[in-house]
Amino acid sequence: MNSWTDKLRVVTPYVPGEQPQGNDIVKLNTNENPYPPSPEVKKVIDNLDTDRFAKYPDPTAAELVGELAKYHGVGASNIFVGTGSDDVLSTAFLAFFNSDKEIVFPDVTYSFYPVWAQVYRIPYREIPVDENYCLKVEDYLPDGDSFGGIVIANPNAPTGISMGLSDLEKIIAANDDCVVIVDEAYVDYGGQTALGLLEKYENLVVVRTFSKSRAMAGARIGYAVGGEKVIKELYDVAQSINSYTMTFDSLKIGAASVRDEKYFRDRIEDVVKTREITVRELEKRGFTVLPSSSNFVFARPSDGDAKSVFEKLREKEIYVRYFSKERTKEFLRITIGTDKQMERMFEALDS
Ligand code: PMP
Repeated sequence: MNSWTDKLRVVTPYVPGEQPQGNDIVKLNTNENPYPPSPEVKKVIDNLDTDRFAKYPDPTAAELVGELAKYHGVGASNIFVGTGSDDVLSTAFLAFFNSDKEIVFPDVTYSFYPVWAQVYRIPYREIPVDENYCLKVEDYLPDGDSFGGIVIANPNAPTGISMGLSDLEKIIAANDDCVVIVDEAYVDYGGQTALGLLEKYENLVVVRTFSKSRAMAGARIGYAVGGEKVIKELYDVAQSINSYTMTFDSLKIGAASVRDEKYFRDRIEDVVKTREITVRELEKRGFTVLPSSSNFVFARPSDGDAKSVFEKLREKEIYVRYFSKERTKEFLRITIGTDKQMERMFEALDS
């Protein structure tokens, strides 16, 4: 018997971190910024011409693209914007990974990558990170046959570990027959950016987000920087699905955030300082903490029973992230909050 259910695109969706509500909770589970966005963002919102909502937004996103191009010292044709880097990455998977060859990414990385590969029917292979949770460069050098594409989060998530630029360049240089996506969601907290390699490699795409260091997860703004060819390909695919993804207000507040460099740098410094304290305090309590270049730490309690720590913290309304897969099940991913939020977590751990 034929059934409509046989024709469905059956997928196992990505499960985002929970978004509990309440004033007294400590939310350290989705790598958000504990500080508000730049006050310039609030000014734009306070003066927003709401009549403008009656019209469609600018499909070229010119104001935001222009600010980002200036910021990165590239042309407007080198920037693609989307609704969060999830949207940008998903468009990139659809646009660039269109062969029958396997795309590759690490086994421990952002868990949305295999989901996009599945939903777009892209063959993929997860390459195990080494015993220290680092990527091994040689695994990403093609051995005869080429890859369908490569995706590397740098710094990686949920480990926080970053890869040096020379290693990354070895991978990009050896794979000029496929697109290499470098996801730099967390780069502002201590990673080395691949942006400087764009002039040399037209198969490289660097993806960024406003959700972490710019404290604008709720605005849903992400972007890609790359050569004209890859950026045009992203627009062609995105505009074959939805012409107007970016709301007119998000284009304006995104641009305002980019203009306020000092506030941006100061808040990054605050988070990095708190990260250093957090690492020390976790280590004092017997945790093993992987070296983090991001706004979170990946930490293993001495007995490896991360699940119970996660559950007990949750009972006290302190939310961290737990990944139950084999290689991550003994760790907690803890977003860096304010000093006060981290103190509350340590008090909870001690009790
Ligand atoms: N890349 C990585 C590595 C992430 O951890 C996240 C956050 N979940 C994203 C991309 C997506 O972030 P956003 O869609 O908010 O830009």
